[in-house]
Amino acid sequence: MTNNRYKILVIEDEENLAAVLSTLLEGAGYQPIRAGTCALALTLYASHRPDLALLDLGLPDADGMRFLREVRRENRTPVIVLSARSNERDKVEALDAGANDYVTKPFSSAELLARIRSALRTFGPQEGRKPGAKFVLGDLSIDYEARRVCIRSQDVRLTQTEYNIVAFLSEHCGKMMTYSAIAKGVWGYFDEGCVKRLQVNMANIRRKFGVRLGENRYIANELGVGYRMNGERDE
Ligand code: CA
Repeated sequence: MTNNRYKILVIEDEENLAAVLSTLLEGAGYQPIRAGTCALALTLYASHRPDLALLDLGLPDADGMRFLREVRRENRTPVIVLSARSNERDKVEALDAGANDYVTKPFSSAELLARIRSALRTFGPQEGRKPGAKFVLGDLSIDYEARRVCIRSQDVRLTQTEYNIVAFLSEHCGKMMTYSAIAKGVWGYFDEGCVKRLQVNMANIRRKFGVRLGENRYIANELGVGYRMNGERDE
C-alpha cells in the first residue's frame, strides 16, 4: 500500500503543525515522512529519496536554507518552502537557492495541496517515473524507485548526478534534449558552467556504460545542441 504513493518529507519543528500536515498529506494519498530538525531532514532525505519536500525555514538546529542548499547541490527534488517569514528578501533568497515554491504561514489546506500537486506535476517525477516504474532500452534498464541502472543485468555504479542525467534523458527518450533543458532538469538552473559539467558527466556515463568514443549506443550526442536517449517510449 505504501509502495506507489509519493513520499513527501515534512520538515517542520512545530509538533502540532507537523501532525496536521501529516494527516492532511495522508488523507490526500501521499506518504509523509517527518523531520523536526535540519540534520534529521538531511538524513531522511538521503535514505528515503522523497518525491517532494515541505520545508520550514525556522528550524531549531539550523536555518532551513541549509537543507535547501545541500539538496540542490545534487538534486532537483521539488522543495516548497513553508515560512512565517513573509518579506520579499527571504522569498527571493529561497527561490534563488532553488526552492520551487514559497507558501507563507498561515495557509489553507486546499491551497497547500494545490501547490503540492502543481510542484509534482511541473518538477516531480514524470509519467514514466511513477513509483515502481522501470525503463528498458535494449540491454539497459533503469529502476527509478531503487535509482539503479543495469546493463545486461549488471549494476552500473553511477554518481547521483550521473544517475539524474540518465534518468532525465530516459524520461524524454527519443527526443533531443538541449544542454539547458538537461541542466534545468538535473540542477534546477542553467549557466555557462553547466555545459562543461554535463559533458564531463556524460563522458563518465559513457565510459561506465562501456560505450566507445564516437559510438552512439544508448545516448546520442549532437555537438553544440544536446543529448538524446535512443529509442521510443513504448508504455
Ligand atoms: Ca519552525
